[in-house]
Amino acid sequence: MLLTITTTYHPATDLGYLLHKHPDRCQSFSLSFGQAHVFYPEVSVGRCTAALLLDVDPIKLVRGRSVTLEQYVNDRPYVASSFLSVAIAQVWSTALTGRCKERPELPQTPIPLLAKLSVLPCRGGEEFLRQLFEPLGYTVTAQRHSLDEEFPDWGQSQYYTVELHHTLPLTDLLSHLYVLIPVLDDDKHYWVGDDEVEKLLRHGEGWLSNHPAREQITNRYLKRQRHLTRAALAQLAEEDEPDPDSAEESHALEEAAVEKPISLNQQRLNAVVTALKTNGAKRVIDLGCGQGNLLKILLGDSFFEQITGVDVSYRSLEVAQQRLDRLHLPRNQWNRLQLIQGALTYQDKRFTGYDAATVIEVIEHLDPPRLTAFERVVFEFAQPKTVVITTPNIEYNVRFENLPALKLRHKDHRFEWTRTEFQNWANSVAERFSYTVQFQTIGQEDPEVGSPTQMALFRNC
Ligand code: SAH
Repeated sequence: MLLTITTTYHPATDLGYLLHKHPDRCQSFSLSFGQAHVFYPEVSVGRCTAALLLDVDPIKLVRGRSVTLEQYVNDRPYVASSFLSVAIAQVWSTALTGRCKERPELPQTPIPLLAKLSVLPCRGGEEFLRQLFEPLGYTVTAQRHSLDEEFPDWGQSQYYTVELHHTLPLTDLLSHLYVLIPVLDDDKHYWVGDDEVEKLLRHGEGWLSNHPAREQITNRYLKRQRHLTRAALAQLAEEDEPDPDSAEESHALEEAAVEKPISLNQQRLNAVVTALKTNGAKRVIDLGCGQGNLLKILLGDSFFEQITGVDVSYRSLEVAQQRLDRLHLPRNQWNRLQLIQGALTYQDKRFTGYDAATVIEVIEHLDPPRLTAFERVVFEFAQPKTVVITTPNIEYNVRFENLPALKLRHKDHRFEWTRTEFQNWANSVAERFSYTVQFQTIGQEDPEVGSPTQMALFRNC
């Protein structure tokens, strides 16, 4: 069984740092079920491939037990299965947990990656394979193998050679493989107990709770043990990165209620639209569009020619679509609008080609370690001429009568920044990605604590 991981990141040899394995050496590791070998079939500054070759020993597997023929003669030595997950966790543990002593920033950096699995059993077929990887942003190529090439009548097997392409941190790729390979194989070589729930939550952190197939993934990963699946799903719902659908629904009202007395939302939207028009931005992508507050205004204004809303929450997009439907615009006007589900922390071709990107009250929903990925997605890859970002000014919170002291405005906010913190961040982003930045206040300004919302307007120079 062979897994290869290729990058074209510059310099591609950084893969050696990330995997903690030197590209010049071939290394072997003894595992309870066989040998794992790590080597690099290609190493250059432009392209580097690491290989994990797993040599599962069927005799070792059954030693000391009474066995059936099936336990000796089976597909286990040749396919990607839970053995591969265990090998990843043991041989590439540092990379899986996202640590790198020499280059601490590297594990969180999205890099172009191609993972190739020589043989992957896909119970549920190619459709299920795509359902698992595509929502995470992968481009999936799958080649199905026949049962026996000499006997085409026997039909197709459930084995595929699979290629997964994406730009993301290596730690994310390894976590996805660690969880999803046994899910596709629909089997585990070891007893599944309570600690598997903890493992699933640990390796699924940051992506599983939002995954459209999370129930099937959890169910299969825990070998359909109902009590474990229930426990895992309950915890997933409470996870740090909560299901954006329910989080948005229950908390959006909360934030609006806090800010209502000054109808801050309307002032914010007006400021954003003015900034877009002043900069001649006719093609606009609203990143983290939520339920379409800004889209609604843009769609109703013929100045804007192309309007795209992106959100990670499918439910929010559905609500946005329903609200926009109620505008009863003439048919030809709809061609201007597109709604897409996507994450702002992963590079996405669909975000390119716009005059402006708006990111309205979104950054504070991102986990701080993911901000670097977000910055690159917007300023390095999508690269619109103008970027408008708004976020709460935490200093102003003391002026909200109905907000208890030291509380943030919304339960899903990971942080709220002071004016200095926001300006330091925005200045550093502008400098790194060759943009200029100007700041604007939104809402009534207080001499001591500033305005309730702060806005940064970036222009590509
Ligand atoms: N811009 C909208 C919504 C703000 S609420 C408005 O001003 O009304 C924040 C939105 O960001 C939510 O809809 C949430 O689903 C979305 N979001 C949070 N994290 C995201 C991510 N990583 N990728 C894409 N959208 C995200």
